Amino acid sequence: MSPLAYRRPPARRKPGSVGLPYGCRLGLVIEGKIIDGPVSADGRLRGPLGPGEVAVKGDNVFSGYWRNPKATAESLVDGWLLTGDLGEIDEDGYLILSGRLKELINRAGEMISPKEIDETILLWPSVVLAAAVGVPHPLYGEEVVAFLTSSELIDEIALSAFCWQRLSPWKVPKRFYRLDDLPKGPSGKVQRLKLVKVYEELAARGQGLESQPPVSGLCVSDQNSHGLTASLGADAVGPPTAAKRKLEVVVDFETCKGCGYCLELCPNDVFEPGQGHNAKGYRPPSPKRVDRCVGCQVCFLACPDFCLEVKDWRPGVSPAQA
Ligand code: SF4
Ligand code: SF4
Repeated sequence: MSPLAYRRPPARRKPGSVGLPYGCRLGLVIEGKIIDGPVSADGRLRGPLGPGEVAVKGDNVFSGYWRNPKATAESLVDGWLLTGDLGEIDEDGYLILSGRLKELINRAGEMISPKEIDETILLWPSVVLAAAVGVPHPLYGEEVVAFLTSSELIDEIALSAFCWQRLSPWKVPKRFYRLDDLPKGPSGKVQRLKLVKVYEELAARGQGLESQPPVSGLCVSDQNSHGLTASLGADAVGPPTAAKRKLEVVVDFETCKGCGYCLELCPNDVFEPGQGHNAKGYRPPSPKRVDRCVGCQVCFLACPDFCLEVKDWRPGVSPAQA
């Protein structure tokens, strides 16, 4: 008897898992090698395992694409079908899918699964659908942006701060675009790669990453050729926000270790690389465009050395005294 056969369904159901392998062997591609799991020859479970690309092997797996040896060679390796799905195997041998390999965002070599970002944005009460994608970036190769549908307008800055509280800094989308609907395939799944095309159109019209994020909270509609309505930051609509306050951004020149987090993560490009070095030889950044600051506190939260402050500007009081 196959080591898997005695575990065949029905078996215990686990929320979030697609279940146990049945009728085929299950493996994960990890660091270029197919790890055969989750059951070894003697029937012992090998999980937890992964994440990695899900691979399957067995008599019920197809033997190749019709008249397409190139595609066959790319997807079949030693009889294993590389599915293109990403997944993990838990300690009981259950498979948990986490997305598609092609949809991973490669930001400066950091492979980011968009699913976690989608799930975070979906926690926002009015958001109905969300999809994070990687879009071209001159420095990082790819940068994270997110598309969403929502029952009401959303303050982009507030949503960014919301994500900041729940995601690692490099996973927080740099821009959010609100659409009437997201492109979906026949199965109803959101087609992320089409969203990259939507982004390219927006970027061509000056509404990409380099555009100025909104300074008050709001969205305006803008028709694109995909028949979707993109909502982007604007300064004419929405409630007064932190941007209406006048703020002071203060970097402690001597304490700063020049890690550049504030420079990199500020959503409004307030900072510029500094010109001088401090006594420790580090080069603190300079908050040059402080008029853009909206007080989101992202820089303050990111600074590992507590040497940065964002506070209300008080006339006649120097930052050091405030
Ligand atoms: S609070 Fe910091 S991160 Fe936020 S906009 Fe101002 S300078 Fe940038
Ligand atoms: S995050 Fe803090 S330590 Fe790093 S460059 Fe900015 S001010 Fe300096």
